[in-house]
Amino acid sequence: MNAPQTITMPIPGHIDPVPVPRAITPREDGRIDLIGLPRDEIRAYLIEKGMELKQAKLRAKQLWHWIYNRGATEFAQMTDIAKTMHPWLAERFVIGRPEVVEAQVSTDGTRKWLLRSDDGQDYEMVFIPDADRGTLCVSSQVGCTLNCRFCHTGTMRLVRNLTAGEIVGQVMLARDSLGEWPSQPDGRLLTNIVMMGMGEPLYNFDNVRDALKLVMDGDGLALSKRRITLSTSGVVPMMARAGEEIGVNLAVSLHAVTKEVRDEIVPLNRKYGIEELLQACADYPGANNARRITFEYVMLKDKNDSDEDARELVRLIRKFKLPAKVNLIPFNPWPGAAYECSTPERIRAFSNIVFEAGISAPVRTPRGRDIDAACGQLKTASEKKTRAELDRLAEEKQAALG
Ligand code: SAH
Ligand code: SF4
Repeated sequence: MNAPQTITMPIPGHIDPVPVPRAITPREDGRIDLIGLPRDEIRAYLIEKGMELKQAKLRAKQLWHWIYNRGATEFAQMTDIAKTMHPWLAERFVIGRPEVVEAQVSTDGTRKWLLRSDDGQDYEMVFIPDADRGTLCVSSQVGCTLNCRFCHTGTMRLVRNLTAGEIVGQVMLARDSLGEWPSQPDGRLLTNIVMMGMGEPLYNFDNVRDALKLVMDGDGLALSKRRITLSTSGVVPMMARAGEEIGVNLAVSLHAVTKEVRDEIVPLNRKYGIEELLQACADYPGANNARRITFEYVMLKDKNDSDEDARELVRLIRKFKLPAKVNLIPFNPWPGAAYECSTPERIRAFSNIVFEAGISAPVRTPRGRDIDAACGQLKTASEKKTRAELDRLAEEKQAALG
């Protein structure tokens, strides 16, 4: 099969890539999980398992539709595929979902899921319901290598890229729990997706692209690219490709307007500086006044929140003629964080300066703080447990299930 099977893969280190063991562990039962595969790869697997070409073409199309449009997880549900074929499929394939370790609901309706991969890695996703939309915040990696100083995810020890299946699997699982199958154009609860969970999506480009292609496919989950936003901390060399090959909205975690401060709080800035980053934004394919680039700016007390910083932000946006809006994010504290959140008065003053320059600068209300689901708070609690503790917990769970 053509799935890459190399032993190691490059993944960014503190700034530069380091090789780490490859993520995908084959299932113990030898079956292949179809989630995350495009139609032609499903077809290739069917052929590899002995199905004749013409049949494989038709079945791949049908399987794909059942998986992504209907949300089927059992072959027995697939009424247009001959009953006699169901066991053949079930012996060789599965239609998986990430395992849910824990699901929490905040007092404000925000939901957070702790998920576990087949090889025991934990990651999180968050659903944020609003009056006019429902946004799923999706993770692209387990942890993050980039260590932004204000971000809890950046302190996680374990890091690996999520596979395309694990990324699109988050969306599938959210649809399951919201009862949103089959896929319908109107009246959905899950209307928007933001790649703002754990990880740096542009350091896992291929898998993020493949997953989002599945999410955008009109015959499947059918979410418009206009309703999907990819957030990057500024991986400049990958930004043009993101625009060309994925084409979703872009958000950039700017957070500071001087080299000194951005070098400190977003260490990637030492590699790709502010000017270079803003030029890549100006060149981003598809950005215009109707589809603005969002600049995320976390408000850190006495660090990046002065009137002068706000004026410099305006100057930079003008200098690069950026179709921009600014999201001001009050810093969400976590145990051991080196920063404090700016005062509400300071945030308002900062917002006013940007707003008076004709640039939208809303202050984001933190959501799901009580369940640690707000921006930058994602860090799986289980990661703090040792392997032995996890094994013991798994045994207990097994025993409890009888
Ligand atoms: N790695 C990507 C996407 C995930 S982070 C990126 O950095 O853009 C999503 C957003 O939350 C980013 O803008 C990030 O900088 C911000 N964030 C991280 N930690 C935060 C915290 N403690 N409080 C508020 N926002 C935070
Ligand atoms: Fe990684 Fe984004 Fe957190 Fe920085 S802010 S450590 S890039 S997840």
